[in-house]
Amino acid sequence: MSPDRSSELAALVGQPASPVRITREAVNRPMIGHWIEAMDDADPIYRSDAAARAVGLSGVVAPPTMLQAWTMPGLRNTLAREAARRSGTAERRTGHEAMMALLDEEGLTSVVATNSEQEYLRPLVPGERLIETQIIESITDEKATALGSGRFVTTRSDYVAVPDSLVTEDADPAALAAQGEPVGSMRFRMLKFRPRAAAPARPPESPAASAGGAPTRPRRPRPAVTPDNAFFYQGAGNGQLLIQRCANCGRLRHPPSPACGRCRSLDWDTVEASGRGQLYSFVVVHHPQVPAFDYPLPIALVALEEGTRLVANLEAVDPADLVIGMALEGRLVAVDDDLSLPVFRPAGTPVPDGGAR
Ligand code: ZN
Repeated sequence: MSPDRSSELAALVGQPASPVRITREAVNRPMIGHWIEAMDDADPIYRSDAAARAVGLSGVVAPPTMLQAWTMPGLRNTLAREAARRSGTAERRTGHEAMMALLDEEGLTSVVATNSEQEYLRPLVPGERLIETQIIESITDEKATALGSGRFVTTRSDYVAVPDSLVTEDADPAALAAQGEPVGSMRFRMLKFRPRAAAPARPPESPAASAGGAPTRPRRPRPAVTPDNAFFYQGAGNGQLLIQRCANCGRLRHPPSPACGRCRSLDWDTVEASGRGQLYSFVVVHHPQVPAFDYPLPIALVALEEGTRLVANLEAVDPADLVIGMALEGRLVAVDDDLSLPVFRPAGTPVPDGGAR
């Protein structure tokens, strides 16, 4: 029986989760540039002062969703902190570390992030420094979840901004925070839970397995079919490789999603792809191995000739022969009774006998 740390945990609620933290750098254009490049965000207010002024801002602003990015301590600092903690030379444990230790003592040793909410009060502009104050906002009683029994923990970060000129080497972060202007906040929620005992190996799911005769392999894992992507699997079942197209601007997109990333239109139709394309990238999976597949398992990112990309299995090719840019052609294969998927092979290669996996 694991100990109950409820009273110690309750005492941590409302307490600081970590020391008040000042960003290492002022909000700056190069970081904004990297971010919008990674996010493929073409909004000009993040790169052009003129465009920002045209919508009433004083100049370029940072994307709101970068809020947390500015205060991240960085890998080197994080590793140093962990090493100090392991060797017992860390200064005082943070509230967050104390809380995690108590939860571990209760046997809630697994963790999964559940959700994060950000609130933005005003845009961040280059030249200001952010200061983050983080508290433990709530720790629930132990609840039953699909993952196992555990407690939900919420931390809340409040962000204020100060001019870069106020931040000196020996500045006291908490004192500076008191002078800052609130710019946003973030709640981060996670579940600390008790891992289930390992389940015994399950028998194959294939219905044919119980019908006697030759042993059959387990069925391939099921895709999550939603109202957004059902057309793709229905099309595949009819032998068509259907790709979603924005009905407003015509851009193709895959995997399917509700809105166009370019014009934000919610209207869409589909085009039937030819199945011709190029090998844009690939991986060859060796581990972990799932019983429904053969290994090594080559998986392609296919650049379709229509102009979007698709992840699919490869067939009729030795992984050693894969070359980026090689021409591919695809077909739709019934991998079992109720699932058909596109599978690609080098262009000009004969279609292999039997079902592909
Ligand atoms: Zn569009």
